[in-house]
Amino acid sequence: MSTLRFRVVEEAFKKKPVDVPVPSELPSEYFGKYVFNQEKMRQYLPTEAYTHLMNAICNGAPLERSMADRIAEGMKTWAVEMGATHYTHWFAPLTEGTAEKHDSFIEHDGRGGVIQEFSGKLLVQQEPDASSFPNGGIRNTFEARGYSAWDPSSPAFIVDDTLCIPTIFIAYTGESLDYKAPLLKALRAVDKAAVEVCRYFNPDVKKVIAYLGWEQEYFLVDEGLYAARPDLLLTGRTLMGHESSKNQQLEDHYFGAIPTRVAAFMKDLEIEALKLGIPVKTRHNEVAPNQFELAPIYEECNLANDHNLLIMSLMRKLARNHGFRVLLHEKPFKGVNGSGKHNNWSLGTDTGILLMAPGKTPTDNLRFITFVVNTLMAVYKHNGLLKASISSATNAHRLGANEAPPAIISSFLGTQLSNVLAHIEESDDNDFSALSGKHGMKVDIPQIPELLIDNTDRNRTSPFAFTGNRFEFRAVGSEANCASAMIALNTAVAHQLTQFKKDVDALIAEGLSLHIAILHVLRRYIKECKPIHFDGNGYSDEWKAEAARRGLDCETSVPLIFDNYLKESSVKMFEEMGVMNRKELEARNEVKWETYTKKIQIEARVLGDLVMNHIIPVATAYQSTLIDNVYKMRDLFPAEKAARLSAKNLEIIEDIAEREIAIKAKVDELVEARKVANRIADIREKAIAYHDIIAPKLDEIRYHIDKLELSVDDRLWTLPKYRELLFVR
Ligand code: ADP
Ligand code: MG
Repeated sequence: MSTLRFRVVEEAFKKKPVDVPVPSELPSEYFGKYVFNQEKMRQYLPTEAYTHLMNAICNGAPLERSMADRIAEGMKTWAVEMGATHYTHWFAPLTEGTAEKHDSFIEHDGRGGVIQEFSGKLLVQQEPDASSFPNGGIRNTFEARGYSAWDPSSPAFIVDDTLCIPTIFIAYTGESLDYKAPLLKALRAVDKAAVEVCRYFNPDVKKVIAYLGWEQEYFLVDEGLYAARPDLLLTGRTLMGHESSKNQQLEDHYFGAIPTRVAAFMKDLEIEALKLGIPVKTRHNEVAPNQFELAPIYEECNLANDHNLLIMSLMRKLARNHGFRVLLHEKPFKGVNGSGKHNNWSLGTDTGILLMAPGKTPTDNLRFITFVVNTLMAVYKHNGLLKASISSATNAHRLGANEAPPAIISSFLGTQLSNVLAHIEESDDNDFSALSGKHGMKVDIPQIPELLIDNTDRNRTSPFAFTGNRFEFRAVGSEANCASAMIALNTAVAHQLTQFKKDVDALIAEGLSLHIAILHVLRRYIKECKPIHFDGNGYSDEWKAEAARRGLDCETSVPLIFDNYLKESSVKMFEEMGVMNRKELEARNEVKWETYTKKIQIEARVLGDLVMNHIIPVATAYQSTLIDNVYKMRDLFPAEKAARLSAKNLEIIEDIAEREIAIKAKVDELVEARKVANRIADIREKAIAYHDIIAPKLDEIRYHIDKLELSVDDRLWTLPKYRELLFVR
């Protein structure tokens, strides 16, 4: 009798929502309570230090050492007042999640006691003994030093008793070993390139900011049930489990009433997130049972990304206070919606204009079209790279299945924007009727009508959709660091805008007027990037064939998709934009291939263990009961009658035996295949072997396990079933 499974289900059912104390203040009052934000900087820093710091934050100006000392002192005073005793450099190495090493503020006071101290040196730079972070061979053992360096543009914050200082993480020789360093470089590149283009329309623009608004999807599972599933515990997903008779077919979960225990968790999470300065705004049920979504108001990309990393760790931590585990894996359950992290992305100017939004005047709209078309060009030219930026062993299970975008990057524009682009493409410059703008201003661009883009026609299957004033990169995985996608996208757009500027300037040099030159180039681009534009159903087989004809990257093997990072066009782009060099790209790919291999390796081990320790023993026990019954039938009835009455049981006995044989054979094959693959020295080749040979075997084994789950006595089955994992809360 499976006591553990029944006990955890029963306990989960009995759990009541946790009482979440609601702060007496309004959210606007406790927002950013734990953040060393501008308000606290003004309060805790001498004026000169404050001015220098703001200049560093807003304009990237270097900070002098003496200033750093004063900033560190102010930061420490605030942190200690808030109850912090420790500080840490908080960074995002090439794993998922963040890394931190806590040091306390205490130093000798020279008189046998201690004082709380924090110097500028410790704020600005540290050398974490970090030779065991993934680095793809950049740091061999005798050059194992790496250092973390303060990113003043993302404010420090307090978690529990620790002051967390966002930092980049780089090798002693300068190569980046994290996500933040290249992200900051990509953001600088897109700022520079976009400012140049903006000045065609408005000479006052000094800065362009990339914005990111992520939507985080996740599952919640009762922690008792979770603990009884070794696969969830060790791999983040279920490696087996027959589909529940009911799952999402009634579409009754999406936007449904939020279950009370979950609502308490969400409330708790939101309060804590707001205190950490994360402007969370939206929460709702997602498509699959026990699946939910959380979204903040969009922010500057680097900050938004730090906030996403922070909220993922906050979710993991707080879920436990509510008796849940949060699943951030992209595909914890087969057959239902997976989890993504839509990255809503746009560019905006320091003059307050959203560049991906249509405006009131024809000039505004020409600017709007310019940025949209250049984005499409960037996505078109680098569609394989963008796919690589969101690819992982885990996200591979999600793409192309149950409402997730397919593994081919294309862009959805909607009817209105598509019509506008078609109109521009067909127009010609001789057709000048000197259209009057809104305020009687003469603008020579009759091709640009007044635009009112609404985003009502939506397309869930598009990986990169235009949604009114932004693009929504939906292929990003729920567990991923958004920076990976944001590095690729912002660099590609920066590179493209740089090219656009060159193309337009060349035509101006030939004597064309500015607007005509822009239109000429746009017309050419619209034609060229047409293959990326697709408004249809991304799931259809026709689209797969069509996409291949259009020359889009249709590769589905993750290790091969990673090759896109090392294509000449990618290396050139990253190097020209000063974001990453070849050596860094090569090192990062090594990390990607290695991580891919390890993930599947772990899954293979866990499944082997489940089979031998859970599935086969249970199936055999049930089979023995049936065999016992068959023998007893023979004692009770004449042979012929006994045979007839036992026919069904005999069938099951045989079926179990056949499946056990098949499973055992597959597991043996799996073990053998791993031995062979593990001997492959080349990291890329090894990952390919894991993809081609090992991963499919996991599915084959699962198939038989899931069939056994259907026939074995429910009371014997030890592992919580899909219906429990998905519906008990
Ligand atoms: P939906 O589920 O309809 O896509 P949500 O409201 O859940 O929309 O999420 C939209 C996300 O997009 C939010 O994080 C929002 O702040 C963000 N967003 C809105 N406008 C922009 C913009 N111009 N640039 C970047 N992100 C944006
Ligand atoms: Mg969305």
